[in-house]
Amino acid sequence: MAEEPVPTEPAIRNAGPTAQLRQRLESAGALVRDDVALADLTTLRVGGPAELCATCTSTSVLVDTLRILDSARVPTLVVAGGSNLLVGDAGFAGVVVRVATDRVEFQPGFVRAEAGAVWDDVVAAAVGEGLGGLECLSGIPGSAGATPVQNVGAYGVEVASMLRRVRLLDRRSGEVRWVPPEQLGLGYRTSVLKHSDAALVLDVELETRGDGLSAPVRYRELTRTLGATEGERLPTAQVRDAVLGLRRGKGMVLDPADHDTWSAGSFFTNPVLTDGELAIVLERIASALGAVDVPQFPAERGTKLSAGWLIERAGFTRGYPGEDAPARLSTKHTLALTNRGTARARDVLDLARVVRDGVQAAFGVLLEPEPVMVASAPAR
Ligand SMILES: Cc1cc2nc3c(=O)[nH]c(=O)nc-3n(C[C@H](O)[C@H](O)[C@H](O)COP(=O)(O)OP(=O)(O)OC[C@H]3O[C@@H](n4cnc5c(N)ncnc54)[C@H](O)[C@@H]3O)c2cc1C
Repeated sequence: MAEEPVPTEPAIRNAGPTAQLRQRLESAGALVRDDVALADLTTLRVGGPAELCATCTSTSVLVDTLRILDSARVPTLVVAGGSNLLVGDAGFAGVVVRVATDRVEFQPGFVRAEAGAVWDDVVAAAVGEGLGGLECLSGIPGSAGATPVQNVGAYGVEVASMLRRVRLLDRRSGEVRWVPPEQLGLGYRTSVLKHSDAALVLDVELETRGDGLSAPVRYRELTRTLGATEGERLPTAQVRDAVLGLRRGKGMVLDPADHDTWSAGSFFTNPVLTDGELAIVLERIASALGAVDVPQFPAERGTKLSAGWLIERAGFTRGYPGEDAPARLSTKHTLALTNRGTARARDVLDLARVVRDGVQAAFGVLLEPEPVMVASAPAR
């Protein structure tokens, strides 16, 4: 691959999967294929071939598959919805493990979902059952099991606020155990699970509210759309519809016919600056743009700025760099890097580099990527 704009996951080079290993995976119940391209498993629709792909449709198969691969020290890449992954054009020299479990179970006060359950199906089912709490996270692509990985969030809510516990496979010891959210290091678009092969999420449990009302609505854009006051609780279905409407307007609900959604969602996280850093950046912005209102939000470790605002003000408008480019900023949202149909990973990475460097040159802020980057040796 070309020079990466950002650090990538470590590419572990090792002996490739053997015919014997393939047989063991099949005996464990995995569906094994050797003709899978990562472009077909990811929402950015880029990424070269996987050496092998083992699809696991039950939790026991998933656990056995990972135990076999880990004890044989085979490089693995866990993929569920593929909506937060940017895999290089060389593909992945190892085994892609597809999480395809899908059971969802409602209990009084909480819902339990297997890791591969489609997240938005879980939200829709909860809303359908008259249960509140999850509705602000409507429309986020991907799986239930990946939600704690980067502590998914939208419209003022993070999954951390509703997570009851998570069942993990410890990939070092092979043990399976329930873990409370306090042990997951959940923060803004991060957790101890992100950029780590130490554990696999098998199930998640999320708290629900039984009175048919949403969690308090706080996000300004959402309260405005709903005509609600901050902190108001509304029928869950009404909040879900409003969230989906807002997300569609930004290309943030997957739609195969709309290239603005061929993305990994927001490509950069919103930068969080210390007071000292903020003062310097605000000065840079003022000298570049004059007196402007800079959107700022209080964050745990400082002040959060809007990456989308910085990108736009650095001169990268929606649709940048133009119609003929294979990878462009979404025409609906500057924070999404999109594949217009023929892009390769290299095109997306080149665009990411240009945007990152442009923002840094303009305002001195280094944007960090949100998706997990995977670079690997070419598959044999
Ligand atoms: C259009 C669009 C809109 C989006 N909007 C949002 C948003 O509003 N908020 C937000 O937070 N994110 C958003 N995202 C990002 C993405 O949808 C979420 O991060 C989602 O949770 C990823 O789930 P996935 O199953 O697709 O994970 P994948 O892309 O398959 O995997 C992502 C990472 O998690 C790991 N992983 C996956 N499953 C497991 C598991 N069971 N156990 C351990 N590790 C695992 C993978 O190895 C990989 O490192 C958006 C993406 C798109 C394409």
